[in-house]
Amino acid sequence: MNKLLPLMFLFVAFGLSAQENYKTLHPVSEYKNPSLHKLADIQRPVRFSERPKNIILLIGDGMGLAHLYAGYTANKGTLNIFQMPFTGFSITYSQSSYITDSGAGATAIACGTKTFNGAIGVDANSKPVTSILERAEAKSLSTGLVSTSAITHATPASFIAHVSDRASYEDIALEFLKTDIDVVIGGGLDHFNKRADGRVLCDELKAKGYNMAYNMDDAMKLPAKKMVALTAPLHNGKVDERGNMLPMATEKAIDVLSKNKRGFFLMVEGSQIDWGAHQNDVEYVISETLDFDQAVGKALDFASKDKNTLVIVTADHETGGLAIVGGNIADGQVKASFNTTNHTAVMVPVFAYGPGAQLFTGVYQNTDIFTKMMELLMLSAVVPVK
Ligand code: MG
Ligand code: ZN
Repeated sequence: MNKLLPLMFLFVAFGLSAQENYKTLHPVSEYKNPSLHKLADIQRPVRFSERPKNIILLIGDGMGLAHLYAGYTANKGTLNIFQMPFTGFSITYSQSSYITDSGAGATAIACGTKTFNGAIGVDANSKPVTSILERAEAKSLSTGLVSTSAITHATPASFIAHVSDRASYEDIALEFLKTDIDVVIGGGLDHFNKRADGRVLCDELKAKGYNMAYNMDDAMKLPAKKMVALTAPLHNGKVDERGNMLPMATEKAIDVLSKNKRGFFLMVEGSQIDWGAHQNDVEYVISETLDFDQAVGKALDFASKDKNTLVIVTADHETGGLAIVGGNIADGQVKASFNTTNHTAVMVPVFAYGPGAQLFTGVYQNTDIFTKMMELLMLSAVVPVK
């Protein structure tokens, strides 16, 4: 009997929880979108080239399926991203962990290598691995990075830098001088100018021929030539502070890069979807997702006219274990709850539009996104890391 008692207790407890399990286990927040955004008009039939000349890769940091569906609901049943006809799923675990961080996640996409959490553009042995951006540059394509975080932060950094520790921001900033990247728009000015080594990298960039800007208004006025715009000392503010910085920066970057007839590679990051989810803040998540979707709209607008451009939208991982537990599409109202303040292991969606988009269907490793982009841009030749 003594042995059975705990067992009986378990049955009783289980029975109770089974009765209660229709209730939400975590706090629920409600969000109603105050404004709608219009979609890019890409529904008309477009005859794409056989192979893309340009790739625009947009990464929503931490953006899982629930984040997107929350955005879709808040925007009353429309998203640019949901107009993209080819969809797949990316498996995101890293070399060191079932749950990746943004360094290993972005390195997988940028360089095709599963590596340890915290790594930026290096493999599991801390050896530098060449990124798609560097390979594109070596083939005389134009290249660009745009981000709402510091441009030295893990996601954009993985496309240009090679360091074992994602927190080595000043080292990461130095790597921008070692490449011929054409467009850089993001925060992180202090990592370039307020440095332990006393160097003023913005002066060095200027000497290298870059036009410089320190806010979005000035950045938009720069000629369509090599440019670096560092729009915040560290990270840009939330969307209600920074305004439409990300869609504008995406448009500007495309404008500059598309002058190159050989083609271009551009990575655009919506960094703060992840931060909203870390903070379990539904409003922060949705407003950043909708802002990111507007940047995607700029890319789709261009691609539908250009016909030589592949647009890919994905995430490095999911953040927050977000669940949508109620809502109303007609009202743009979402009820959601989080399971964790951290990243989760669940695979993330991939959306593609343009020539080669059909390659992105199915379920595959995050590193395969790199491989598919490489094949499409015919960048398979190995290029040494500078
Ligand atoms: Mg990021
Ligand atoms: Zn995160």
